[in-house]
Amino acid sequence: MAILDEKLGEIYDEVLRRNPGETEFHQAVHEVLDSLGPVVAKHPQYADAAVIRRLCEPERQIIFRVPWVDDSGAVQINRGFRVEFNSALGPYKGGLRFHPSVYLGIVKFLGFEQIFKNSLTGMPIGGGKGGSDFSPRGRSDGEVMRFCQAFMTELYRHIGEYTDVPAGDIGVGGREIGYLFGQYKRITNRYESGVLTGKGLAWGGSQVRTEATGYGTVFFVEEMLKVRGDSFEGKKVVVSGSGNVAVYAVEKVQQLGGTVIACSDSNGYVVDERGIDLDLLKDVKETRRARISAYAEARSDTVRYVEGGSVWDVPCDVAIPCATQNELNRRDAATLVGNGCSIVAEGANMPCTPDAVRLFAEAGVLFAPGKAANAGGVATSALEMQQNASRDSWGFAHTERRLADIMHGIHDRCLEAAETYGSPGDYVAGANIAGFIQVADAMLALGV
Ligand code: GLU
Repeated sequence: MAILDEKLGEIYDEVLRRNPGETEFHQAVHEVLDSLGPVVAKHPQYADAAVIRRLCEPERQIIFRVPWVDDSGAVQINRGFRVEFNSALGPYKGGLRFHPSVYLGIVKFLGFEQIFKNSLTGMPIGGGKGGSDFSPRGRSDGEVMRFCQAFMTELYRHIGEYTDVPAGDIGVGGREIGYLFGQYKRITNRYESGVLTGKGLAWGGSQVRTEATGYGTVFFVEEMLKVRGDSFEGKKVVVSGSGNVAVYAVEKVQQLGGTVIACSDSNGYVVDERGIDLDLLKDVKETRRARISAYAEARSDTVRYVEGGSVWDVPCDVAIPCATQNELNRRDAATLVGNGCSIVAEGANMPCTPDAVRLFAEAGVLFAPGKAANAGGVATSALEMQQNASRDSWGFAHTERRLADIMHGIHDRCLEAAETYGSPGDYVAGANIAGFIQVADAMLALGV
């Protein structure tokens, strides 16, 4: 990791001391502090009022027991989390992740990232994140429902449309949001649509929310290409993952004239040189909830399936990691650069390791961090909240236009901040600085 300047280094050491073992959280904090040197030099008021130190400490952290009964009648116990990180700009906002890897350090890294991401959207939303070490994989629908109900039986007392508004993340999609919302409504006797986002269209959801993170990431890349006078036309693209973010990134790349030739899951990857068959991908992932190997089985004439290995070995012009944190390491980055990849945009949260990001910078690869590139999901959640507050529902085209405008705005805000603070063209510095300044100013205005 790069060496931080003195004041920021002290803050980072304090974060290490106060949060032992939470390596993903340390990584996320370091990456932001690394960009803030020029900001603190120019505006000492942020350091004087301990704004950065306060930002690194969540306002509230909730850990709770989630007991539920599985299909065999046995009682299972999971652990639930909600980290309400920062509410300077609005109610805490951020997803819930259900995955066996979830522990406090993962939730804090995600919640910390969310503060800056949400700030960058320009919408009135603070930062938070939650989840559980529950694994939905292999669980029946009834088990998922009972787990979600048990989770909400504790969570409901901590959330609300003016307090904290969860949504989905890995392992939490429309089905889970439905069960969570149903339980919230049952317990509180309130049809409070604005308490959760990612809802179904019939019960308070927004058009484009399902597609938003993937579409938004691709809109962001389109802006990066435009700066170079280029477009998706004729580009070979690799997207990792095959969940909600990946599927809709593939869809939008195809609509804009690019060809996605590979995608993956945690078992392996498929290469389809003719371009990923989107209908088949949706059928495998959304309808059958199957593994990506099922895609290869259905198209065995043209598709290569590689068990294990790295999808980043597939040569491409644009790489869009959409799976999970630290999925793309320095070796992968070197392979991508060696194969001529010139743009990388994070659809997932923190998928590239710090040394991979450094290698991209050294090689002149344009790199967009997740807190900017994947902000379309949460931005559309904020649009869902707007529709809920006004008891309205907008059409698809209007909502998609709003999303495209927001992504355009984030892109330009990143480049402006990077330019102003001495790192022209550096989207990492730009995203961290622009996201930070808005939250920091709000925190100063609101007092200690
Ligand atoms: N989990 C998504 C993210 O990482 C969306 C959060 C939301 O919509 O609140 O930004």
